[in-house]
Amino acid sequence: GMDDIASPRRTKEIIQRHGFSFKKSLGQNFLIDQNILNKIVAAADLDSTKGALEIGPGIGALTEKLAQQAKSVTAVEIDQRLVPILQEVLEPYPHVRIHHADVLKTDLEALFQQDFADVSKVSVVANLPYYVTTPILMKLLEEKLPLENIVVMIQKEVAERMAASPGTKDYGSLSIAVQYYSVPELVCIVPRTVFIPQPNVESAVIRLTVREQPPVEVDDEAFFFLVVQASFAQRRKTIANNLKSRFFPGEGRERLEALLSEAGIEPSRRGETLSLQEYATLSNILLKAGI
Ligand code: SAM
Repeated sequence: GMDDIASPRRTKEIIQRHGFSFKKSLGQNFLIDQNILNKIVAAADLDSTKGALEIGPGIGALTEKLAQQAKSVTAVEIDQRLVPILQEVLEPYPHVRIHHADVLKTDLEALFQQDFADVSKVSVVANLPYYVTTPILMKLLEEKLPLENIVVMIQKEVAERMAASPGTKDYGSLSIAVQYYSVPELVCIVPRTVFIPQPNVESAVIRLTVREQPPVEVDDEAFFFLVVQASFAQRRKTIANNLKSRFFPGEGRERLEALLSEAGIEPSRRGETLSLQEYATLSNILLKAGI
């Protein structure tokens, strides 16, 4: 409604009264559009049994909407100056907890045990600071937290890379990493005008539905991701040339080509054409061969 934190009038009033100035270096672009906020929250599919973790609550625009839907809300904010503002504006919501911390340095497993012991499922919902989008999302996915989904506003190009299919220009190691742990869906594209201050890039909301099991069988995850990285080291090179530089330097091509053929992969293909399943098969075969 008119008096929500995210209304332009209330946002300006809060910022002025507290003498708050935006820090570009912390990716501070606050949302002032109820429609977009409602879309973000709806995509998370919250209810009064579930928990929400918000990263970077700012002055609480999204936090307030989460508080109206979820049983328990925990928000982690790096900027100390925002903590008293959040405590004031979220005072009507006793089931919201504010933690002053850098999410990248936070023990999330411990935080979950502490704050989400009494909820059925947890979503991460955030308008992320764009300078650390990928490290934050990879931390959430790699730590295998008990998450139902992750709904985040991020840079549009990054959202497109996360959701890309094999054989497209956006497909790369980020697509594979995200799709190994989750099922990504683009929720909507968002114009710059819904933020203050306006960012320099276009944005998108993406939902990652976290998988209970990876979709492919991988014998050694660290090695699987190493093979993926190596295969995209130089995008215009073939898979054989990329793998040769990384794993078979100063060796003939025979052994590499035999292993590729065992995996059913033509040596002339490029990394961007291989599916998750093909990367899984390939890395398992290379591992067994003692590479
Ligand atoms: N959620 C608010 C909104 O939508 O209006 C603010 C979003 S703003 C794009 C990003 C927020 O993340 C800022 O409040 C910023 O201070 C915070 N932030 C930046 N880096 C962070 C980090 N490493 N850990 C926690 N919060 C961070």
